[in-house]
Amino acid sequence: MKERLQRLRLRMAEEELDALLVGSPVEDIFKTYGANRRYLSGFTGSVGWLLVGHDVAFIAVDFRYYEQAQKEAPHFTLFPIKGQIGDWWADLVRQAGLAGKRIGYEPQGVTVATLEAIQKAVAAMPSQERPHLVPAPPLVEEMRAIKDAEELAAIERAVALADEAFTAVARRIEPGWTETQVAWEIEKYARERGAEGLAFPTIVAAGEWAALPHAQPRNRPIREGEPIVIDMGVRVDGYCSDLTRTIVLGRPNPRLQQVYDIVLTAQLTAEELVRPGMTGEEAHMLAHRVIAEAGYGERFGHGLGHGVGLLVHEAPRLAPRSPDVLRPGMVVTIEPGIYIPGWGGVRIEDMVVVEDGGVRVLSKAPKVLQM
Ligand code: ZN
Ligand code: ZN
Repeated sequence: MKERLQRLRLRMAEEELDALLVGSPVEDIFKTYGANRRYLSGFTGSVGWLLVGHDVAFIAVDFRYYEQAQKEAPHFTLFPIKGQIGDWWADLVRQAGLAGKRIGYEPQGVTVATLEAIQKAVAAMPSQERPHLVPAPPLVEEMRAIKDAEELAAIERAVALADEAFTAVARRIEPGWTETQVAWEIEKYARERGAEGLAFPTIVAAGEWAALPHAQPRNRPIREGEPIVIDMGVRVDGYCSDLTRTIVLGRPNPRLQQVYDIVLTAQLTAEELVRPGMTGEEAHMLAHRVIAEAGYGERFGHGLGHGVGLLVHEAPRLAPRSPDVLRPGMVVTIEPGIYIPGWGGVRIEDMVVVEDGGVRVLSKAPKVLQM
């Protein structure tokens, strides 16, 4: 954490910021909005603000979190707060020695209401003390995109558990099981074996429902011969995994086998050819080309992949028009798909880590239609 603060300060200096305010736009009950705060401090509570200056680092939390913040964020000075941010903002600025300085805030990390409350509190300060509030670029998101060894180890544990849960449950599914039943069996398996929770609600979509990339599981029995898309992930030590497989019960019809083979070829091609230095768009096009040449270009309507870490969707983006440059240490998904309304769909998703010269595939769940 200390090293992360030092790296952040170097970037803050480049952006001519004297400090950065980091929080979450809403109370982070489900640990999805407070990733920057957790990444910098280690604090896992649902509410709290970090104010990081060049030689100070404060964590502002209310009574519920005094002890937890001191334990989890030892490199931060506790600033106990009561009430809304407007009530204590001026005191924090003075105590941090930031009167009259440039303080960056994260546009994604505050609501309009919060920003207005801060601005109001600033306006009430004597004019020579007022800090200058400026929107900061996504400094912490950029840092989070490249994983250190400890983060990668947590991700690998989350990937391994997802592989295991998928494989164990997929082998047991029989005609007549409902989509919700499959989703619940996966969740149960993962929770019983150490997952803190799911990375996102499991998608199980059979038959024509598989044409919806983010389908909700239904109470509908699964039939032989239809595609079953299962997209799932678990959370281990704060880090997410993300895995998709498409399977079938009994024999696939010829069209399903054909579509599956195209998606698998596109997926393996991308895993073979993605390199550090490529943009997200270039990576996307590796798979898109294979699918387009097979005549299904219009049916691959989403991006090839996304970063995964504390959040299941984070930087970088592998998608048309994404300028993000892939770098060693990034962990991303490679997940092409073909979706045909009224018929169904196929998606295959692995997580990979970008290394010098290529990617290493982390996901090990079998890539076969019939389990
Ligand atoms: Zn997924
Ligand atoms: Zn994904």
